[in-house]
Amino acid sequence: MKTLMTRDDFRQSVFERDSHRCVICGEPSKDAHHILERRLFPDGGYYIDNGASLCEKRHLLAESTQLSCDEIRQAAKITEINKIKRYEKAFYIFYYIVVFANIL
Ligand SMILES: [Zn+2]
Repeated sequence: MKTLMTRDDFRQSVFERDSHRCVICGEPSKDAHHILERRLFPDGGYYIDNGASLCEKRHLLAESTQLSCDEIRQAAKITEINKIKRYEKAFYIFYYIVVFANIL
């Protein structure tokens, strides 16, 4: 896990790591996608290992969860995800509590 970055550094670093290409289809990258939503991070989530370069089409698929976090990470060859995985786990636990509470 690398250090927290500014928004601009995040975008630039993610694009550079991915050679300015969409990690899924190889088209020129348009968005530095947050693999896990920004709002799940108390610190904004601007970590390079939470970023992936995507074209417009794949970004829409990612935002609508038709592309999974794991698929995107695999395509971007991201392996250092321990810290992010912890956030993800905490998020799902929280999410299920909220959903469950609404059912009751
Ligand atoms: Zn693409």
